[in-house]
Amino acid sequence: MRVVAIVAAGGRGERLGAGMPKQLLTVGGESILRRSIRLFAEHDRIDEIVLVLPPELAAEAPADLCAPGKPMRIVAGGARRQDSVRLGFEAVSGRADIVVIHDAARPFASADLVSRTIDAAAESGAALAALPASDTVKLAGAGGGAGPIVVERTMPRERVFLAQTPQAFRADVLAAAIEAGRGGAVATDEAALAEAAGFPVRIVAGETTNLKITTMTDLKAAEAIAGGERAPATARVGIGYDLHRLVEGRPLVLGGVTVPAEKGLAGHSDADVLAHAMTDAILGAIARGDIGRHFPDTDPQWKGASSMAMLAHAVSLAAEAGYDIVNVDAVVIAERPKLAPHIEAIRASLAAVLGIEAARISVKGKTNEGVDAIGRGEAMAVHAVVLVAGRG
Ligand code: MG
Repeated sequence: MRVVAIVAAGGRGERLGAGMPKQLLTVGGESILRRSIRLFAEHDRIDEIVLVLPPELAAEAPADLCAPGKPMRIVAGGARRQDSVRLGFEAVSGRADIVVIHDAARPFASADLVSRTIDAAAESGAALAALPASDTVKLAGAGGGAGPIVVERTMPRERVFLAQTPQAFRADVLAAAIEAGRGGAVATDEAALAEAAGFPVRIVAGETTNLKITTMTDLKAAEAIAGGERAPATARVGIGYDLHRLVEGRPLVLGGVTVPAEKGLAGHSDADVLAHAMTDAILGAIARGDIGRHFPDTDPQWKGASSMAMLAHAVSLAAEAGYDIVNVDAVVIAERPKLAPHIEAIRASLAAVLGIEAARISVKGKTNEGVDAIGRGEAMAVHAVVLVAGRG
């Protein structure tokens, strides 16, 4: 089954009043037109794309409008939408079993909606995406002129659907519908022409996010939908763990704060087990390896450097990668000393290096109930997690 998509972008979008064709306005960093083309360029059931543009745009189509790996033609549209679609249909280069027509002003239709519309058209001859009406629908009287608008009657809401695109047709059905349009029938969509020509048109469930961008309010709603697409990719989480032995004759440094204690942490530099776990959590969040890779014992640059300097370096690596620290949480596991009196000082010290307020930093003390090496007071361990967020 060969499927051709006609992307109708022949309108000038004068209702939006943006001073440029609305198809070229950007939503979430990509033009509305490019998004609509991409829907079909990336769809595995579409074999060819015909893009109908206003004549002045068709003559000088933006260079980024391409559909890699798929034949695409750009056609100059006509005076009315139905003329534009007719011109698009005439420009189809190969055989078409099914033709899908889509308004470029609906950049958020899903690939699944396109597939369902194709399947329904293959079965029934013609199909369109539509949403059931959620408001009560009134039919206004013919009245006319400048007088007040008066309701003639209330429509049975359960039978009212609001038409969207995509609309799909068997090629012979579309040819007959277009022929009916030539004969004088005027329509705002191809389904109406098919209805007028006597074909049954099947309704498939549309999508509320498949909005048509017509006004500035629609454009703001579109930005919100595009923002929702990006959000999941921009938040990342990282985990870090470290353990050091507790020995006599060493200071106990946690998060850059020297805590009075009988024993301190053994290891490279100040052996700040909390700073080390947090550094690994940040490196983990940006998938940049671990503390051993960035600060090897053998590197003179970091020999004797404070662990908080290493933590600051991890924060700057995250910033270079485009990520801000959102919050951190850590569990310090040790039998002694009691950490509660020192927690606020540790949070303040970490806040200065992480570049976030202490309210976003959590440090919790825990004992190991006398069990294993930590329980016997031979070692101290820290688990840390961090959340980072990408900048726009
Ligand atoms: Mg360590």
